[in-house]
Amino acid sequence: MMFRTHLVFSILLGLVFLNVFGISNPWLFILVVMIGSSLPDIDFHKSKIGSWFKPLALMFNFLFGHRGMIHSFVGAFITYILFMLFFGSTYAGAVFIGYSSHLFLDSFTPRGIRPFWPLKPKLNGIVRSGGIFELILFFLFLVSVLLMLA
Ligand SMILES: [Zn+2]
Repeated sequence: MMFRTHLVFSILLGLVFLNVFGISNPWLFILVVMIGSSLPDIDFHKSKIGSWFKPLALMFNFLFGHRGMIHSFVGAFITYILFMLFFGSTYAGAVFIGYSSHLFLDSFTPRGIRPFWPLKPKLNGIVRSGGIFELILFFLFLVSVLLMLA
């Protein structure tokens, strides 16, 4: 799915989790959730984040392919552990929420993901990237975010 859809969905989830847990620095928490939701597309140099970090994206694409290991819970757990080591459990949780939200949304696209890479089973659906269903989802998420902020 598109960068903006991942981003607005991650903000929505971040807000939900903020309300569930008492987080001392809510804006930083949301920001880390947003970063988490952007990370998986680092395996594709033509994605938004991939174009910002092109050498890294080309390397990951070469090593794992687009929607391989990086688009799986293996990638999510590695990221979680790295954040745990450097930033502690709250922000490791935040990045994991964002990362998982990306995997969740991509699992509705025709190409899908292999959530338990290297195992073969694939999750996919009918929501085409950049298509009308995605646009509808984007606006639903956006309205929900605005309602939660209001
Ligand atoms: Zn993706």
